[in-house]
Parts: sequence; structure tokens; C-alpha cells
Amino acid sequence: MARYAFSLDLDRCIGCAACTIACKTGNDLADNVRYIAVNKFMRGHIPNLFGSFAHHRCFHCEDAACVQVCPTGALSKWNGLTVVDAAKCSACGYCTDACPFKIPTLAAEHVSKCIACFDQVSEGAMPWCVQTCPSQALRFGERARIVTDLQARRATIKARFPAARLYGETELGGLGLIMLLLDQPQVYGLPENPQVPLTLTVWQRAIQPASVGLSLTALAVTGASFIIARRQHLREHARNHQTESLDQIGKDQK
Ligand code: SF4
Ligand code: SF4
Ligand code: SF4
Repeated sequence: MARYAFSLDLDRCIGCAACTIACKTGNDLADNVRYIAVNKFMRGHIPNLFGSFAHHRCFHCEDAACVQVCPTGALSKWNGLTVVDAAKCSACGYCTDACPFKIPTLAAEHVSKCIACFDQVSEGAMPWCVQTCPSQALRFGERARIVTDLQARRATIKARFPAARLYGETELGGLGLIMLLLDQPQVYGLPENPQVPLTLTVWQRAIQPASVGLSLTALAVTGASFIIARRQHLREHARNHQTESLDQIGKDQK
């Protein structure tokens, strides 16, 4: 089985956000939905300041917390990528809590995150974001080749960026998006050592094994109760947030 991965070379990224737009258009995403956020920020200290770009998008973790916690199989692994079957999603929101990078959100009653352009890639085509990147900062292919090429790129830029490093080569079992950072991960808002949340580990080690003895009916009822309770909680949260926003708008208009 192949193991695919993306690479993102931040020395080559020009922050044009063509990847974001191509993703939205190619995947016909709603106006308020996007799978890639590109943010501009400054690095360094006066007078040596440099512009840089941080990307917020799915890392396609090998040990994907979102997949492990999803009770319906809406999220799954396919050749190293974390893919989505929206029709199976119950909108319970467990994945949004479990992801160490806070990537998935809920939109239109189902999970919203990069789907790895599954329809394209499974037919042998490149993902929309990779096809569109004008500076070849984004690439996609066999993971082993992606890692080797990024290591070579790091060696090339080391004199200009002594702190340059690969992020995702080994983290969380090896990520399916490997970034060539020009500085330390914290500078890009990334955790130095990303971890699967402790609550998920407890779920896997204690609660899941204990449930093996339950009948299938009991398991189904328990699972359904969890999902319904979770959806009610999320709706309540959204209502409260909306009310707070309206209150704030009302105050601002006074
Ligand atoms: S792989 Fe496809 S779905 Fe994922 S960010 Fe790129 S264009 Fe969007
Ligand atoms: S980055 Fe988050 S959403 Fe993406 S595969 Fe990892 S755990 Fe899942
Ligand atoms: S399209 Fe390429 S250069 Fe433009 S923001 Fe995306 S990764 Fe960077």
C-alpha cells in the first residue's frame, strides 16, 4: 500500500493563498468554509524583521486522533491520508476536541477539514492546492520521496536559515504533511511536541476495552446517547455564542 504525503516549503511560499482559493473552488466549498488558512506574520527582532507565512491545514497524522475518536467511521485513513465520508458524520464534534492542531470544525452539520482531494488523488491526479501553487511550495507524492527532497532543500537553505528544520517527519508517528520551517515551531504557532490528548488515551486504554463485554444493543444505545448529548451540547454552545455576539452588537450600537 502506498503512503502519500504533502510537503510545504516555507522558503518557497509567497503567501498568495492560491492554494486556499483552488481548494474552495475545486471542492465547491461554501462561502464560510475553507480547508487552508494562510496567515502573514513577522519573525525576528528590530531591525532584522522578516515577513513569513503560517499555514493552518490538516497534517494527515499517521496516528490520527480524529480517526481514533470518531464513533461513526466518517474519518478514516487511506494510504497515509486522513479522508472524510461526510455522509457518515453525526456532527458529534469529538474530532474537533481531539485534534492536537485544532483543525476540524463543524459546518453544515458535518465535519469540515481537508479531504485530501480523495476523488482526484484516487484517480491519479494531483490535489487542487498542489496543482495551483505558483512557486511549487506545495508538493504531493510518495512520502519517502517527499521526505528525502525536503531534507535536501533544508541542506540548501541552512546557510540562510540556521534554525530551518523539518516538522512532521517523526511527530505523532510521522505526519502526512511535512513542513520545511525556517524557524522554531512555536514561531509558527505549532506545538514543539504534539501529543494525542490524554482524554483520548484514557478512552482507548480503559473505557473502550471495558465496553467489549457489553452487548451490541447496549453499545449502540450508549453510542447513540453520547452522540445525541454531544450534538445538543454543541447546539447549546452555538446558541449561547450567537446570543453573546448579538448582545455585544447591541451594546456597540448604543
Ligand atoms: S488536498 Fe484538496 S481538500 Fe486538501 S487542502 Fe488541498 S485542495 Fe483542499
Ligand atoms: S491534523 Fe487533526 S484533523 Fe488532521 S489528521 Fe491529524 S488529528 Fe486529524
Ligand atoms: S499557493 Fe503556494 S505560494 Fe501561494 S500561499 Fe499557497 S503554498 Fe504559498
